Amino acid sequence: MILASISMFVELGLVKKFSIERETLYRFLMTIKKNYRDVPYHNWRHAFNVAQVMFAILMGCEMKGTFSDLEVLGMFVGCLCHDLDHRGTNNAYQQKAGSALVLLYGTTNTMEHHHFNHSVMILSSENLNIFSSLSAECYSAVMNVLKHSILATDLSTYFQHRTRFFKLVESREYSWGIEEHRELLRSMLMTASDIAASSKPWEVQQRVAHLVTAEFLSQGDKERQELNLQPQALMDRERQHELPKLQIRWIADICLPLYQSLGQMNPKLSVMADGALENMKHWDSLARKSEQNNSSFK
Ligand SMILES: [Zn+2]
Repeated sequence: MILASISMFVELGLVKKFSIERETLYRFLMTIKKNYRDVPYHNWRHAFNVAQVMFAILMGCEMKGTFSDLEVLGMFVGCLCHDLDHRGTNNAYQQKAGSALVLLYGTTNTMEHHHFNHSVMILSSENLNIFSSLSAECYSAVMNVLKHSILATDLSTYFQHRTRFFKLVESREYSWGIEEHRELLRSMLMTASDIAASSKPWEVQQRVAHLVTAEFLSQGDKERQELNLQPQALMDRERQHELPKLQIRWIADICLPLYQSLGQMNPKLSVMADGALENMKHWDSLARKSEQNNSSFK
């Protein structure tokens, strides 16, 4: 994954364009990897997968030209860094548990602020700063894109912005020359890459769904045992059998509308919606089977 990340930096033209020293890039990537925790889902592998999807979108869907090199740099590094030091618990949990992170960053985008700050801490270490050749102006521009990209991975941010994006695409009023529109597209591509597991081949989708579930259930256990709270369905060990039904809702309500809108904007991105629809069929047949099993027990 480290080697593949280096290849992607090179193929995106970032190493050359921003005179990134190879040794610094190696150290940076090794440090990023080390700063992900050993949790079931939000670990280095997830960060790598997100970066790989972003790479595929930028290179394979003729999207690279839509953005400046600085934006590509900020988004790609943003993908690698977007869940740094994740503890396997979400923003709602930080608030319920009154964690130190809430005291530090407040209740809006709590974890995402932490992921960004963690990235800044790594980037500002002298021998890890892959942005060191940038002028002061470019440095501050790339940090802005980085921050924006990481904060965009909070689904509550996605919900705030998606209606505007969908409308722009629907009415064909978007123009990537307009800064605000491009910023919106960057946000949507970050989310699309982050949740892309739902668009992948069924074997991958199923494996990832079980990893996410393992992490959610362990948060649910903590809520029940340590905070004396009833966890929501998704995180409730006693309702594990509802996974197929919950996956269908996750894909239909959150993933599919985004993939469809992106596909409308760029037909090459339709593969994401196609993959998600295919996975919904699989989850649906599992949901039916589990219903039949339940009724035969009664
Ligand atoms: Zn993520």
